[in-house]
Amino acid sequence: MTAHPSPATALPDEVRSAPLATRVLVLNSGSSSVKYQLLDMRDGSRLAAGLVERIGEETSRLKHTPLTGGESREQIAPIADHEAALKAVAAELAKDGLGLDSPELAAIGHRVVHGGKTFTDPTVIDDSVLAEIERLIPVAPLHNPANLTGIRTAMALRPDLPQVAVFDTAFHTTMPESAARYAIDVKTADEHRIRRYGFHGTSHAYVSRATAELLGKAPQDVNVIVLHLGNGASASAVRGGRCVDTSMGLTPLEGLVMGTRSGDMDPAVIFHLMRVGGMSTDEIDTLLNKKSGLIGLCGDNDMREIRRRVDEGDERARLAFDIYIHRLKKYIGAYYAVLGRVDAIAFTAGVGENAAPVREAAIAGLEELGLAVDSDLNAVRGDEPRLISPRDARVAVAVVPTDEELEIATQTYALVGESNA
Ligand code: ADP
Repeated sequence: MTAHPSPATALPDEVRSAPLATRVLVLNSGSSSVKYQLLDMRDGSRLAAGLVERIGEETSRLKHTPLTGGESREQIAPIADHEAALKAVAAELAKDGLGLDSPELAAIGHRVVHGGKTFTDPTVIDDSVLAEIERLIPVAPLHNPANLTGIRTAMALRPDLPQVAVFDTAFHTTMPESAARYAIDVKTADEHRIRRYGFHGTSHAYVSRATAELLGKAPQDVNVIVLHLGNGASASAVRGGRCVDTSMGLTPLEGLVMGTRSGDMDPAVIFHLMRVGGMSTDEIDTLLNKKSGLIGLCGDNDMREIRRRVDEGDERARLAFDIYIHRLKKYIGAYYAVLGRVDAIAFTAGVGENAAPVREAAIAGLEELGLAVDSDLNAVRGDEPRLISPRDARVAVAVVPTDEELEIATQTYALVGESNA
């Protein structure tokens, strides 16, 4: 997840010590990591951010950054499990007077990857919500168990505090059946809950809204193609603030070429690898999720390194870049057609926000669609949403930094904030 901690936003002491519960802790629990940010919802400012990684190993690492002043602190020592990790995070927060027992803490917002068809909105977590997230494990075997562990641990530490699940899939639940259903036997699909769910929804929601704001319009008046290009990558078509199609599917494997995932390909490749290549299901899963995409094509998944190699004339890197761009263009064209009228294309996440050559190449040759990139504007770097299309362009092209933590905190606080105010 791309983090964009705002620059040290020191609140005056008299404001910081106000008794209102206006803080939200955002937790993103992975199988061996926990990322967190503490935000003050009066202005969305960051009070602290950090990461625990390699949980369960001898060399677990906790990095904590207070964002109201003070240096980052780092410790490398065994952290056995998520409970120990969260306790260590709580201890770090407490050192800055921001502990989990603080009366200013209004809620904890949890990123949950898969909410299936059930969860269309952020949801206050209770036993039935936990059971439903658990029921969805078969469609998110890697992510939902880790998310559940994080939630259960946080609930044990602060049972009295509202805890909210914000789902990666929720923004995409507005897709029409024509976009969400695969063209396979309906009974089989329903029995196994096979459909397009889409992911990165928190980012697509935030960025599509921020793009409307950049254009000075209300979200309901704007059609946007959002290109979330991180290590994982997805595109979405957003009509009037509602998602109508997205490139990831039952799992995050479908769609664009990603850092290590193949994205779209003929599903028969899998039968071929089984029958002719003698590969097992797990081997193919690993191949397509971890050893494909950019890394499979050229040995690198970092766009900075790939660009460096391209500039040096490396042919493999060039081909990987070209395949990446070709796929991106196909999705821009497809979603242009799905939307009919496009007001803006927004680039976001690590590659989208930083890689000017990717933005330029993806839009090149699309002048007939009203799309162009101004190379001077495209070269400007920055943390703010900005336009990179020429002034008179029919369709705006924008760079809009994503902020999934702020979106999770905002949705969480909107749900529980009033009761604390
Ligand atoms: P994720 O959340 O999916 O892990 P991010 O959104 O943080 O990913 O994006 C990470 C990717 O962004 C890196 O793998 C790298 O390819 C790309 N990236 C980051 N900075 C730059 C840069 N300055 N130029 C080009 N690519 C960049």
